[in-house]
Amino acid sequence: MTVTFRGAVLRERGLPRPFAESRPFEIVELELPEPGPGEVLVKVQAAGLCRSDLSVVTGARVWPLPMVVGHEAAGTVEAVGPEVERVGVGDDVVLVYLPQCGTCPRCEAGEPWLCKVGMAANLRGELLTGGTRLTHRGSPIHHHMGVAAFAEYALVAEPSAVPIPSGLPARDVAVFGCAVLCGAGTALNTAGVGPGQSVAVIGLGAVGLAAVAGAAIAGAVPIVALDRLESKLAAASAMGATDGAVPTDQVIEELLSRTGGGFDHALEASGTLEGFELAMRLVRAGGTVTTLGLPGPGVAHALELAPLVAKGLTIRGSYLGSCDVRREVPRFVDLYRDGSFPAARLVTHHVPLDDLNAALDRLADGAALRQVVEM
Ligand SMILES: [Zn+2]
Ligand SMILES: [Zn+2]
Repeated sequence: MTVTFRGAVLRERGLPRPFAESRPFEIVELELPEPGPGEVLVKVQAAGLCRSDLSVVTGARVWPLPMVVGHEAAGTVEAVGPEVERVGVGDDVVLVYLPQCGTCPRCEAGEPWLCKVGMAANLRGELLTGGTRLTHRGSPIHHHMGVAAFAEYALVAEPSAVPIPSGLPARDVAVFGCAVLCGAGTALNTAGVGPGQSVAVIGLGAVGLAAVAGAAIAGAVPIVALDRLESKLAAASAMGATDGAVPTDQVIEELLSRTGGGFDHALEASGTLEGFELAMRLVRAGGTVTTLGLPGPGVAHALELAPLVAKGLTIRGSYLGSCDVRREVPRFVDLYRDGSFPAARLVTHHVPLDDLNAALDRLADGAALRQVVEM
């Protein structure tokens, strides 16, 4: 049986601002079939709006269109297809943006965050199980990162849906599918921040703030949160930062002297060249720069090799916070439940599906952290 429901379709990239007027997202009636083998039908309750969604709209990253965008969400399983083993009807789930196949070389090597098969399906705008399922009046629509969250229903491959304890507010746990994994995972897994280590976090969007929380969970001291906008510093302190500042030259000099020459870890979450250069300035000899901010294609940093060697630096990229999602989503949800991960502080706005275009404007203006669309 086909399910019919409302969802937001993007047909054309690069429409002008304000998005509230050009309306890149059109709310239409969509259809999905019953879940096939290895597939799960989820009634979406809440979905987070992330900077990566904006890059689909602007064309900074080129994805196949038309597409239902949205790649982090929470909902309840409504139906499962044959061969589905780990989730059942009625389970609450978090939807994650990389379906980890479990059998490719990277998955087998214990690095499922680099799953080649899942990434390839994502780039085609298809499910891990092959092809698209979404249609609008019978015409196929692509799925954003195997999730396609800005809709009342999502049909996903089983690895995209991670079961969580029932009854948690979807508006809080929706952000565990991208922001929390990427941010907290980068601090705890990729960078491997340890107790008592000094950490600078650059860029205080939702992902940067989740990195602050990850560093706090690791027991790092100090945790210095840096952003060009002073207005973002208060949220960082709520997430566990010990200090916050706008990084002027004077502030940078003070931080270098206070830390005895730099931080053990610099976590770059701004997605800008300036942010990466700041991270390179702030890290101590022997320290680690970990970058997760995803600037646009072609953004390059000229790396002077002699200081890299002489200072014994490590530079790491972090995708999906180096998370095995079946292990890490439940771990972070547990930290949320016991109060050590204040996920609700990452969310500044709750919006209905019909206000998605206005929410895009707020995101582009830097006037919001995570905005959660509630269905
Ligand atoms: Zn995201
Ligand atoms: Zn894989």
